[in-house]
Amino acid sequence: MVWQDKMTETKTKTLHSWIALEHARLHLITAWPESARKQALLIAIRSSIQRLMVEPEAASFKCLVCRTGRKMMVLPSPRRTPVSGFHEIAA
Ligand SMILES: [Zn+2]
Repeated sequence: MVWQDKMTETKTKTLHSWIALEHARLHLITAWPESARKQALLIAIRSSIQRLMVEPEAASFKCLVCRTGRKMMVLPSPRRTPVSGFHEIAA
């Protein structure tokens, strides 16, 4: 019984991760300028979310952006700074 609970928990976490990923894609692309590519991607992502939400374990998933209406915050990627002395070490 404990083993089965652990499997269900793992399945739920994995499923929620996939749904969260699709929501992240959805909210990022929603901010794009209008284009045929944007519309096609939004249709594909919404379809993916619908397919994932069929699973009973998906019912407990809550997207913060959808729930609150707040825009997703995108952090800038860190700047790449050359590592001094790397060539001397690698050589
Ligand atoms: Zn969402």
